[in-house]
Amino acid sequence: MAFDVEAARAEFPILLRHVHGKPLVYLDSAASAQKPRAVIEAMTNAMEHSYANVHRGLHTLANETTDAYEAARNKVAGFIGAEPAEIVFTKGGTEAVNLVAAGIGASLQAGDEIVLTEMEHHANIVPWHFLRERKGVVLKWTRVTDDGALDLEHFQSLLGPRTRVVALSHMSNVLGTINDAKALTRMAHEAGALVLLDGCQAIVHKPVDVKDIDCDFYVFSGHKLYGPTGIGILYGKADRLAALPPYQGGGEMIGIVSQDEITYADPPHRFEAGTPAILEAIGLGAAIDWLSTQDRVAIAEHEHALYAHVRERLQGMNWLRVIGEAPGKGAILSFTVDGAHAHDVAQILDRYGVAVRAGTHCAEPLMRRFGVTSSARASFALYNTLEEADAFVDALTKTQAFFA
Ligand code: PMP
Repeated sequence: MAFDVEAARAEFPILLRHVHGKPLVYLDSAASAQKPRAVIEAMTNAMEHSYANVHRGLHTLANETTDAYEAARNKVAGFIGAEPAEIVFTKGGTEAVNLVAAGIGASLQAGDEIVLTEMEHHANIVPWHFLRERKGVVLKWTRVTDDGALDLEHFQSLLGPRTRVVALSHMSNVLGTINDAKALTRMAHEAGALVLLDGCQAIVHKPVDVKDIDCDFYVFSGHKLYGPTGIGILYGKADRLAALPPYQGGGEMIGIVSQDEITYADPPHRFEAGTPAILEAIGLGAAIDWLSTQDRVAIAEHEHALYAHVRERLQGMNWLRVIGEAPGKGAILSFTVDGAHAHDVAQILDRYGVAVRAGTHCAEPLMRRFGVTSSARASFALYNTLEEADAFVDALTKTQAFFA
């Protein structure tokens, strides 16, 4: 079944916008995706008709809101093949990694090793650096090849008896590389390590089954998945979550509290201190419902076709350097333009209505690996069209002329 991009686009009101008098061409979805009407309406509807705080009420609105919040948890669980009790709502992917790192870190010793990769987002680097600074754990970095793939032999060579955690991205937000999560998880488990996968990008572009992958933890953000900001997901295997100490303290995460002692709630509530992001959870549930009405395989093919079209048209343009050409990569194009700073490229593209991101993409080790200080990045989503892909290449060609 071919994906009907025009029908899908019509669900995203913001795409009717003009920027500098030009139709918006939004190619920054890897940073944050636009929202379909279903998400906007679910959140508005909750605020207009059924809103109260969750879990602690005995009145109708509190019960309705609690049901909606927990229904969202069920939807997330179903979306990735997990049990609802294995789904923790966090503020975002970043908070989810911090929660796991802080929890695991409590029992790590100096000299324990954590294996990362050179293609990680800072969200999956800095929390581990905290453990290097505070506990003396050793960070090991899996090399990335020149075309942007993970060097599997090097990865294997880094795994050893002191490897406690392997934390890596399922899909790179810069290179678009999609890592073989299942194989990497198996290798890490054979070495006795826990595995955390950063799925912030992958979850958007491919069906994810955490049980099939067999990872211990999987994290992602709602806002890249066509849902709202302020909500993220930590999936953890039930026994792994049960072994983690609480992260933040406050209401809702306790068993009993007295002057002298405290007990904690079971997961997932142990990790959801205070009033959670209720509306955002409902919005994320709506995003998942909406996505589930779409053919996700056809969407992935559509996005790939856009990327392939752009890559083809850019062939032979010797002023352009593309960073990340690993086989099977997703629809993210990172590039530099000779003689131009990426920020200037992005600003000029904006004059043509084309929104791309530029900078380090919160991946400074990767920038260093490729010998650049920044790059521009066009990322394709389900609502982008072939005409937009052409508009981007045309605008980029004109932009380059400023620097030629
Ligand atoms: N990991 C990856 C691969 C990402 O692309 C991002 C967002 N750019 C994050 C983690 C962090 O997500 P958030 O900012 O939503 O917490």
